[in-house]
Amino acid sequence: MEMSAPPEVPEKDSPSRARDARNELLDRIREFVMKHDLNATGSNLAAITTALSGSNAALAKAFAAREISGEPIDQRWLDTVVRLDPETGQRMNELEELMDRMEYSLMRFAQTAKSAADETTEQRGALDAQLREMKRTDGDLTPQAEVDRVISLSKVMLDRLGQVEIAMERSQAESDQLRANLAKARIEADVDHLTRLPNRRAFERRLASAAQEAQLSGKPLCVAFCDVDHFKSINDTHGHDAGDRVLVTIASLLNGNASDECFVARHGGEEFVLLFYGLDADAAFNKLDGIRSAQAMKQLLNRENGKPFGKVTFSGGIATVNSIEDMRDALGRADAALYQAKENGRNQIMVI
Ligand code: GH3
Ligand code: MG
Ligand code: MG
Repeated sequence: MEMSAPPEVPEKDSPSRARDARNELLDRIREFVMKHDLNATGSNLAAITTALSGSNAALAKAFAAREISGEPIDQRWLDTVVRLDPETGQRMNELEELMDRMEYSLMRFAQTAKSAADETTEQRGALDAQLREMKRTDGDLTPQAEVDRVISLSKVMLDRLGQVEIAMERSQAESDQLRANLAKARIEADVDHLTRLPNRRAFERRLASAAQEAQLSGKPLCVAFCDVDHFKSINDTHGHDAGDRVLVTIASLLNGNASDECFVARHGGEEFVLLFYGLDADAAFNKLDGIRSAQAMKQLLNRENGKPFGKVTFSGGIATVNSIEDMRDALGRADAALYQAKENGRNQIMVI
């Protein structure tokens, strides 16, 4: 009698296990975004994915600690923690590395093209001289047919070398052009496309050098975060494009006050960051509060339809950068001061 084997639960093959793990990670990411009411932007998702998948241990730890503390995991906190994370610091440098590598490759290529071009010129010169010499002397010693064959072969070679030379020169010109484009791209990489202010990348670099200079000179250095108040409702009421124009207006107001003692950058979204060189916290406060009150007095109009935006204000938080080591903490303090300004009712500057 034939026995039928008991039904087997099929062992999962590894592709389906990988699929399950991926689905589970996607579920966790979705839940996280919903729970904390975050925007599903590329940078948010990238940060959340690396934290929840455990591929960025430092970020995972920061998320866990924040959850335990019960404090909100919101956009501002996320931006801060991503900025502070050493691994993400690396991510920001990737572009820099890529450009360095490209520049190096271009330099190598230009060198190779140049030496190949030099070599062909040399070869062509030598061949040319030899040919002239042959025409002058060899006719007496070698049968004419042989001389003619060598001469015509040499002419072909000369032609070829001439073509190679032209191609090499063209390659060199192209690599020069590429290098010029790369130099432009380096500048663009530091500029925010909407407001044309320096971007966060540029700011990070400026902060590091300013902290170093301040430490050497003993002069004070302050950092400030500014965040537009209730900006979401401007977008909701007037649309995203109008929101963009408001950001450009505020950026140019801040930038209009930029000077040797004040560096302004767009940190991201509706958040700007300022560095005050040589100003202590009181002086930085006076300066930033002046800009805040100038903005608060304005009535902005939507130029597309003439409707008023109403008053568009911003809040700010200032902290002193005490040393190079204190640089990251100072950013955290400025952010905390901004939080306080928001909690106190917005349209104000706080100092920590
Ligand atoms: P708060 O006073 O607490 O700062 O409130 P808020 O509404 O300004 O803050 P929230 O962080 O809730 O919203 C910020 C909004 O800014 C959400 C996002 O869609 C919008 N935003 C971010 N970047 C841009 C941008 O480049 N252009 C436009 N139009 N909107 C942006
Ligand atoms: Mg914000
Ligand atoms: Mg805001």
